[in-house]
Amino acid sequence: MIAIVSYIIKNNRINRNQRLLIIITFVMMLNPNISVVNAQEQRVEGLIAEDSNNLKYTPLFFPINKDDFINISSHYGYRYHPIDHKQKKHLGIDLVAKKGKAVFASADGIVIKSDYQKGYGNRIIIYHIGGAKTLYAHLWRSIVKPGQKVSQGQRIGFVGATGKVTGPHLHYEVWIQDKKINPLVFWKKMMNSKGQKMVMN
Ligand SMILES: [Zn+2]
Repeated sequence: MIAIVSYIIKNNRINRNQRLLIIITFVMMLNPNISVVNAQEQRVEGLIAEDSNNLKYTPLFFPINKDDFINISSHYGYRYHPIDHKQKKHLGIDLVAKKGKAVFASADGIVIKSDYQKGYGNRIIIYHIGGAKTLYAHLWRSIVKPGQKVSQGQRIGFVGATGKVTGPHLHYEVWIQDKKINPLVFWKKMMNSKGQKMVMN
């Protein structure tokens, strides 16, 4: 298996993003404790398989500029909710940045929602080819409209504290076939060992 992977990685016809995704997939295979359940990994692998020709549709791009990103205040999974004061499932990841910092689309797609919702505040949902969706919540404001095409890395709004929050941050979700999965699956390889600061090449 290692020989096959190293052959694939050394093959010059594979671009940088494809190589990165192969590495992520391989690391996931080696680490069963990578914080996702098997079903999630299968969905991600399914998406990768369908989409290996164009990773622009895969939510790999970190939605906040690395210089603006402060930390992850809440991971995907169960947590004690600071407002409701009880254990709740948190199906996204909270990326802390100051109010007004830019938020970027993590993959190419079409905006299907740009609205206000009680819990999420100002939110954007983008549909990506292959069936994934991404959600960006608590925005100060959105600069995209439903029906608009966006590309990976395009600025779509600004970090805020709208909806049910205790401070400014981006609540980010990745849905695959309408199941919310851990966005870290896509970023694991782009983070350093502390799991806080992103290393973006
Ligand atoms: Zn959140």
